[in-house]
Amino acid sequence: MPYYNEKIETMPKDELAKLQYQELKKLVTRLYDSSVFYHTKMAESGVKPADITSITDITKLPFMKKTDLRDNYPDGLVCVPHDDLVRYHVSSGTTGKPTVVAYTQNDIDLWSECVARSLVSCGVGKKDVLQVCYGYGLFTGGLGLHYGGEKVGATVIPASTGNSERQIELIQDLKTTAIACTPSYFIHLIDVAKKMGVDFSKDTLLRTAVLGAEPWTDAMRRYIYAESGVTAHNIFGTSEISGPMFTDCSELNGMHICGDIAYTEIIDPKTGEQLPPGEKGELTITVLKKEAIPMIRYRIGDITSILEGDCACGRTSPRIDRLQGRVDDMLIIRGINVFPSAIEHALLKNPYLTSHFMIEVFRTGPLDDMLVKVELKPDAMTDSINGLMEMQMRTERALRDALNVSAKIELCPPNSLPRFEGKAKRVIDHRVI
Ligand code: AMP
Ligand code: ZN
Repeated sequence: MPYYNEKIETMPKDELAKLQYQELKKLVTRLYDSSVFYHTKMAESGVKPADITSITDITKLPFMKKTDLRDNYPDGLVCVPHDDLVRYHVSSGTTGKPTVVAYTQNDIDLWSECVARSLVSCGVGKKDVLQVCYGYGLFTGGLGLHYGGEKVGATVIPASTGNSERQIELIQDLKTTAIACTPSYFIHLIDVAKKMGVDFSKDTLLRTAVLGAEPWTDAMRRYIYAESGVTAHNIFGTSEISGPMFTDCSELNGMHICGDIAYTEIIDPKTGEQLPPGEKGELTITVLKKEAIPMIRYRIGDITSILEGDCACGRTSPRIDRLQGRVDDMLIIRGINVFPSAIEHALLKNPYLTSHFMIEVFRTGPLDDMLVKVELKPDAMTDSINGLMEMQMRTERALRDALNVSAKIELCPPNSLPRFEGKAKRVIDHRVI
């Protein structure tokens, strides 16, 4: 059974707990002594580094949320001198302001080590040619998989997204054996390949896919295998914890969270109480060694559970189940985070539109489509088709600029969309995955 870092990955659980405690203690002490943000947060919760005497004492520490990053935009949470930073990534889909993530060289190395371990657990190694079809740029997917792929010694093709026929040609010409992208894009590539007369299982060496950034199912894994002969692994991460990091292994039964790098909790989203393995709740992760922007008890907002029992692959780190939805109203459209509030923010910049809007999401083909219906103000009503079309296109452009993903706009007459007495339900998600 190949491992990237066998000693750590198969470490006895009690030794792992000791290591996690040592790292947490170091982290909490550093932050209490040197960061105004973390010091204040701990002081408000009445906890001091001396109160942390085992890893289970982590429950004494306060939670962090996406709003902590947003409120401290752009770099209020950076805990190292700016000269020590080597990279920024910026996450999409927030209420106006994006969240910025900063990295030191050690942060990049640790992230790459984590991706390397994960790739090896998916069977990707030195002999492989890995085509990375996640976006390269501010999004963490492309560079995250790229660095991890190079670390395991694979030959990496930085193909990025789009130009699907070219992607298929690359798979054939460069003898790609493994691919990393969103599940919906991979399904799209299977269709494009078929149209080009290419059967992945007969005409290419592609056998492994590492798919993530959006929810998908075991049924989709079976479909992918039947249609392409490719074994699809699940990869999970968020930009705040560095980027894509954790995958399922050869057992295809839950994603291992490298225990020396991150500590996983599942909490009740209402009470914040920690839940035992097997119970579903909100995924909460502490990255034990992050330097630039440490994340302690970060409430990721995804619903899952820690799986019970040991994994037959021999790795001792905990596994989490597939993510089964979110506790907040964030939508994932083509792998991009979209908050309805960000749509509202963009719409309201246009003086002719109201805040009455509805969002519908579809998946008719392989990719997600989003339709935003928005009411016009009474004085914006016009009989001019050209005028309406111009406004529609202008709004579509404004949304694309704000969200980094396209949406179709439908301009509606005043008072035509539903009104809500309680919490507005603006999203109708027609996707069945
Ligand atoms: P970002 O911060 O842009 O990297 O987005 C992170 C979010 O994408 C997560 O909190 C999840 O909601 C979603 N996500 C990432 N990977 C997966 C996955 N494998 N399955 C389901 N959702 C995912
Ligand atoms: Zn395993």
